[in-house]
Amino acid sequence: MKCNTDKRNVSSNEPWIFTAEVYDEIKRTIGRRKPEQGGILGSSDGKHIDHYYFDKTANRSSASYTMDTKALNEVIHNWNDNGVQLVGIIHSHPQGVNRPSSGDMETAKHIIETIDVQGRFFTPIVQVSPKLTGEIKIYPYTFEQTVEMKPQSMEIEESAVDKIKERHLRALDKKAPNRFKRIESIFPENLMKKKVVICFGCGGSGPFIETLARCGVETFVNVDGDIVEDTNIATQGAYIHEIGKYKVDVLEERIRNINPLARVVSINRYLDENMTDDEFALITGIKNYNYEDVLLLGCTDNFYAQDRCAQLALKFGVPYLAAQIFEKGRGHEVIFSYPGVTKACPRCMLESRYKKFLTSSQNATGSSSGAAVCVTDYLNSIKAYMAIYILCYNEQQTPFYHLLDKFADRNYLMTRCSDELQAPAFEPIAELESKETDLTFPFMTVAIEQTVEKDCPLCYGTGDISIIKNRIPDTRYLPNISI
Ligand SMILES: [Zn+2]
Ligand SMILES: [Zn+2]
Repeated sequence: MKCNTDKRNVSSNEPWIFTAEVYDEIKRTIGRRKPEQGGILGSSDGKHIDHYYFDKTANRSSASYTMDTKALNEVIHNWNDNGVQLVGIIHSHPQGVNRPSSGDMETAKHIIETIDVQGRFFTPIVQVSPKLTGEIKIYPYTFEQTVEMKPQSMEIEESAVDKIKERHLRALDKKAPNRFKRIESIFPENLMKKKVVICFGCGGSGPFIETLARCGVETFVNVDGDIVEDTNIATQGAYIHEIGKYKVDVLEERIRNINPLARVVSINRYLDENMTDDEFALITGIKNYNYEDVLLLGCTDNFYAQDRCAQLALKFGVPYLAAQIFEKGRGHEVIFSYPGVTKACPRCMLESRYKKFLTSSQNATGSSSGAAVCVTDYLNSIKAYMAIYILCYNEQQTPFYHLLDKFADRNYLMTRCSDELQAPAFEPIAELESKETDLTFPFMTVAIEQTVEKDCPLCYGTGDISIIKNRIPDTRYLPNISI
């Protein structure tokens, strides 16, 4: 591979200048992940680092980062075709190791030789904050046709962008001083301000999260690796101008338009085995909060991700809520658990589904294809109201105080959105309807009694989910099941 090098005649003591966009993107990708993550740096003028590609498919461990050469080569080719040169690799190291290793030097040497890079090759090392907040420190090094690494000067352009953003948010806040005035009677003394919502899956559930922001919740951790597609316009309330953006970014923008002071952490990743329980705890800061103020939401349509959410909620001892739309939007369900209040655990409730998934090769991702957005809207309303019951369970000043007790053994809400949905819970209603056809509307929700499964591998059939706290070693794996 030949690099276009004619534009670059800079001496090594001239600084590389990161554009604010690239720097931000590095913060959002490498900065939000445990060390040993990396990507490549490109420049269109030999002075500014204005291109960056995060090596998301790299082979990595806690001790090393190995580039996905195939994927990167494609990007480099593409850059070359567009007059962008590869000028360096950036990667993160564990805390305290802020110099390139001998292995890093070998890699740099290899790249310089195979790609025919002339002059200097930038090999900065990133140190991420232990809590993976996205704050980073870059230690700049340059590799120069020798086996020696030299410190390199570096600048970050226009962190003014952040300042402008902050000023803009403060101005927005001032524009709407009375925004929570009309809900003061139900949420007095800004009590929702201290609540923390952690949401996995930000597609159809986006409007539900917005609702919680409108209720005054001020801290959100949103996790979703998906990008908005045109099909999401009809089913998830997305807009054309949002196509191509990360769903978490779109949601953050909407939340900030409701409450500019909200603390929003947006993670463009999936809840898969690359995210360990420790990393989950770091990213969400879940251990820093009182469990009564936290709600963990499983809003994905993937069976395994949903299972993981439930286990994480139980492991960290926080309230949990999850939802699922049935095929063709005929109906939906909401399940929830609250330590010390609800009885059946999420696994108990969905035991038959677990059996089905674990014994067949069924697709793990459900599909809400064929559901009109009003079905999702209705589900979001139910989720939001239940979320308020949960978040306000111990808030005496609210009308929601202890209302959840009513659902202690009925922590499964099923909604019928079409007469086609047949379920025992709706039989009495169907009977009523057979006599008086105009009496009801298809949209109808019932809270169905749940039984604790004697052999539940998650709660051991105790009916007390608070005992599970800290007892699941690794939620990435399904606990054993007796079938
Ligand atoms: Zn390294
Ligand atoms: Zn159970």
